[in-house]
Amino acid sequence: MKVERPRGTRDFKVGETRVRDAAERRITEVFESYSYGRIVTPVFEHAELFQIKSGDEIREHMYVFKDKSDRLLCLRPEETASVARMFVNELKNERKPLKLYYSDRMFRYERPQRGRYREFWQTGVELIGSDRPASDAEIIVLASKCLQALGLEFTLEIGHVGILKALLDDLKIKSEDHGRVFTLIDKGDVESLKDIVKEKRFVEVIGLKGDVEALKKAAELLDGSGGTASALRNLEEITSFAKAAGIDFRINLGIARGLEYYTGMVFEIRVDGLGAENQICGGGRYDNLIEVFGGPKTPAVGFAFGFDRVVNALELQNKVKADRRKLICVTAVSAEEMAESFRIAANLREKLRGFSVDFEFSGKSLSKTLEIASNQGADYVVIVGRKELDSGEVTVRNMTDRSQENVKLDELAEFFG
Ligand code: AMP
Repeated sequence: MKVERPRGTRDFKVGETRVRDAAERRITEVFESYSYGRIVTPVFEHAELFQIKSGDEIREHMYVFKDKSDRLLCLRPEETASVARMFVNELKNERKPLKLYYSDRMFRYERPQRGRYREFWQTGVELIGSDRPASDAEIIVLASKCLQALGLEFTLEIGHVGILKALLDDLKIKSEDHGRVFTLIDKGDVESLKDIVKEKRFVEVIGLKGDVEALKKAAELLDGSGGTASALRNLEEITSFAKAAGIDFRINLGIARGLEYYTGMVFEIRVDGLGAENQICGGGRYDNLIEVFGGPKTPAVGFAFGFDRVVNALELQNKVKADRRKLICVTAVSAEEMAESFRIAANLREKLRGFSVDFEFSGKSLSKTLEIASNQGADYVVIVGRKELDSGEVTVRNMTDRSQENVKLDELAEFFG
């Protein structure tokens, strides 16, 4: 019986995981350099955690199931709600701001295509406990620095749903309709949007894009009063910090994000050439979510990279790097030296850091072994023969320049450094 992989999932071969691991490591190193620490939350949660605030887009695509005790559970479709829950359960008494990161798999029952999977990885951060514009800016700068560290070309756009929410309030659009408005903005469905929000000004505001000049236009359209004015000021401060950090970005007040919990700054990062699935990162401020989950009112801001899309972007832009260890193969010339070579291989593994040491189990001929080692990309082959062993030595073949030399057994590890 042949069993196929479930639709929307992938298997990763060793070469692929090497590339993915190297990219993940590079990103998390940048997270660590900004003093973020890793957390891990469960793969499944109570379904209501995501049904409350994650938005229609997520709700419709959740993997929901009942366990044997009739609990309604779901495979997590995103991490922010889990982090907010974890904060309420475990972290609310810790010193703030808390700087957390994760890198894990998420699950959404979506129509699979390149860059859209049912099982996918998100690598992201949450900064909990600060409402200062500099914390929004740190998040944006951090996302940008990670992608720069990977050598990627990208465009970063910053918006602010706080401005849009305040404007909807000014226009007397009921708060229960806000979610639908944001979904329509996110989908770019301006025509349906006009049925809910009649005022032309709203469509003009969400159409504002470009450099910081767009903020001046916004000030004119929003006529500088109440909630819209303070939200706009907040965006101005955030962008001035981002500018001070020297990152490239554009303003786009049409960013709504599919997730309902955002309250302030939102941003998205795209990469050209990835087709419809070109958004590799999304994030923003969510100041009410922790309270919704029963915690104290705590401001928070974060983002998630769609890690699979980051890897797709690396391939597209020829920026793929795999961390490669030097490879040493140890082989016996004949069955007689097998046990001794086995011991030599074990000894090398113990003494050498940052190398891989392979052992030729099957007693193939030396020429065959050298051929296999060469195909494997080995850097050295340690050849263990009787004659050399008798004088306390082995032969080391350098596979790059094909030179060979005899090395004393007790100096072997030092020989490789
Ligand atoms: P979201 O949690 O919807 O804001 O998504 C954050 C990021 O995760 C997006 O910018 C995408 O890059 C990525 N993403 C979302 N859904 C998928 C999916 N089904 N497959 C792969 N990546 C995804």
